[in-house]
Amino acid sequence: MKWTTREIKYLEDHADDGAEAVASALGRSVQSVKAQAKRYGLSLRRAWQCPKCGMRVQTPLSSKTGWCVSCTRELRNERIAEEVRELQEEVRREERVNRERQRLYSAKHRARKKLKKS
Ligand SMILES: [Zn+2]
Repeated sequence: MKWTTREIKYLEDHADDGAEAVASALGRSVQSVKAQAKRYGLSLRRAWQCPKCGMRVQTPLSSKTGWCVSCTRELRNERIAEEVRELQEEVRREERVNRERQRLYSAKHRARKKLKKS
């Protein structure tokens, strides 16, 4: 069956959905879609558009974030940075507590010494 101009237009617009998706959308065989794509010099290589950065990428979007690899890694980096900030805050707090304890022990020691002298 001959391809209509509407079908060819669809193929042009959706080639990067992949041969199978175009075939099922048009009710054509995968083989037929591949033949037409070849005829019109269209690549059926799968590509996805990332909803976060808007880039078209050749690797599937993350199933967790729905974003491209780079956006997903950026999000992961932000989370790690947040963990680092929390850990550093914990360390600073512990240092503060230790310094205070040290100060109190010294004060206690000095006070005892004074008592013995008198
Ligand atoms: Zn992205």
